[in-house]
Amino acid sequence: MGDEVRRSDGGGKAGSEFTLITSENKGTLRDPPPHASVEPDGPTLVAKAAAKRAELLAEAAAPSVPAAQATAVQVVCRARPLLESERERIGERIEGATAASHAQYDYEAVVCRGREVFCLHEERSIGVPTGNVAAAQYELHGAFGGECSTGEIYAQCVEPLVHLALRGGLATVIACGQTGSGKTYTMAALQALAAAQLLEQGGNATLWVSFLENRGDKCFDLLDDSAPVALRDDGSGLVHAAGLSCVRARTAAEFARRLAEANGRRRTAATASNEQSSRSHAICTLRLGGPEGVVDGNGEGAPLGGRVQLVDLAGSERREDAVAHDAARLAEMREINASLGTLKECIRALLRRATTEPSAHVPYRDAKLTMLLRGAFEGARGAPEEARDDGATAADGGSDGSARSAVCLIAHVAPLRSQAKHTANTLDYAAQMLLATMAERQRAQFDEVEKWSGKKLVAWVAQLDGGAYAHCAHAFARSSGKALTVEYLPDVAQWVLAAGGTEEDAARIYNTFRELHKKAKAAKRRQQPQGAGQPPSSRPTASQPM
Ligand code: ADP
Ligand code: MG
Repeated sequence: MGDEVRRSDGGGKAGSEFTLITSENKGTLRDPPPHASVEPDGPTLVAKAAAKRAELLAEAAAPSVPAAQATAVQVVCRARPLLESERERIGERIEGATAASHAQYDYEAVVCRGREVFCLHEERSIGVPTGNVAAAQYELHGAFGGECSTGEIYAQCVEPLVHLALRGGLATVIACGQTGSGKTYTMAALQALAAAQLLEQGGNATLWVSFLENRGDKCFDLLDDSAPVALRDDGSGLVHAAGLSCVRARTAAEFARRLAEANGRRRTAATASNEQSSRSHAICTLRLGGPEGVVDGNGEGAPLGGRVQLVDLAGSERREDAVAHDAARLAEMREINASLGTLKECIRALLRRATTEPSAHVPYRDAKLTMLLRGAFEGARGAPEEARDDGATAADGGSDGSARSAVCLIAHVAPLRSQAKHTANTLDYAAQMLLATMAERQRAQFDEVEKWSGKKLVAWVAQLDGGAYAHCAHAFARSSGKALTVEYLPDVAQWVLAAGGTEEDAARIYNTFRELHKKAKAAKRRQQPQGAGQPPSSRPTASQPM
């Protein structure tokens, strides 16, 4: 039988089944697509994603930056919880997705852990799905998952900034992310919490509120029926929103009412003109003024300097939709993209200023948005805690840029796999802000790991996990970075036990050191072949060099 051939099921792997091709079945058999056997169905993929989430959450995480150590510039992430309607979509086929494109089924795809955010996706090998779920990793200053309340975020990221404002400084909190990721939800709650704290702790100072909406070149007063507000150049190149109303809030309840009105206005406009809120930035400013009834040269409630700016940015997803829009919308979109890009460069420069490059140029004059927020970029140098210690009082803060300033950017993401493209965009955006600084710091640290002296090693162990192993750090005095890279854990455990520590202490110190060493080597490897650029397909984590 000359037409008898044997054909493998694609791959010729050991143990694979062979089918006898005869004159009867010839022509009916086809080579299955190479990935058909590994493309999981919906329920399998959902289960695998859930297992991957559990695995990631179970691993020890680096703690978020505690508020007391927060630097003047922080970039964190908030992943909102699944909405009820989204919960129902889990396991469903994602509209428009094919096996050849991306995910076929929806599942909860974001994991926040300490400072890390993971974005789950189907693992591929040379473009072919392997049937496993993998995770892209991003590292920021903090990451808050769906289980975290706005109160927790406030306590950790915003409260220290409001303290700064109470002392005459400028606190800026910025929400970015795609439409529907929870920016307005978070900012509305943070506005209320910040106002309540300012009213409660502001002594006899008065609280004043203004709310500005910025769309392209135009600005509107959200506390005055969205009346247009002119942006004026004051001659020195700085813009001011002329005639923006500034309303006194006497109680938290009154503030909440004003704000609900303003937010409602933004929403009404949204339905009237196709999602306006996703195309505009909203800046809510809470300002402390002089005591009630006290009139000085500047009138009652004259600014004391202390200010909190809460910024709800335009949705960052619009760039892909560009083809569908007319010229005016395209111009608007270009403006949004430019302002988000400039904001990124400004925050990146602030981080450099706070760490390695005190004179880094902050290009805030490049966009209207950053011009409107300019105080945030003129004064942010030290840490909020430093500002608190320098003896400044609320009256010390001035408009001359001398006031201390701190910025917190909260990158918002939605949790579903079908939103992953936007999630990755947002996390790339946030992680890129940290690249220059964290990469530099880590490189400096990594370069030294193998060169650490015994003394340096002792100092490192002593500060690890907030000083948890300080009592046994001296056990490492006779070792060195180089020696520890080739030491075995049981030997290290002997030293630690002799110094009064436990085996768990030894394991934690040893594993953390090894991890650091591994990262150091990986960073060095990455540094060598790549120049300044990132390959476009790579997902940068904050630890990747630029
Ligand atoms: P954005 O302003 O980014 O477009 P929204 O704040 O309007 O997003 O949030 C989209 C939806 O998600 C709203 O229905 C909102 O109530 C809900 N939501 C957002 N964040 C949370 C959260 N942390 N917890 C519960 N629901 C949330
Ligand atoms: Mg919104």
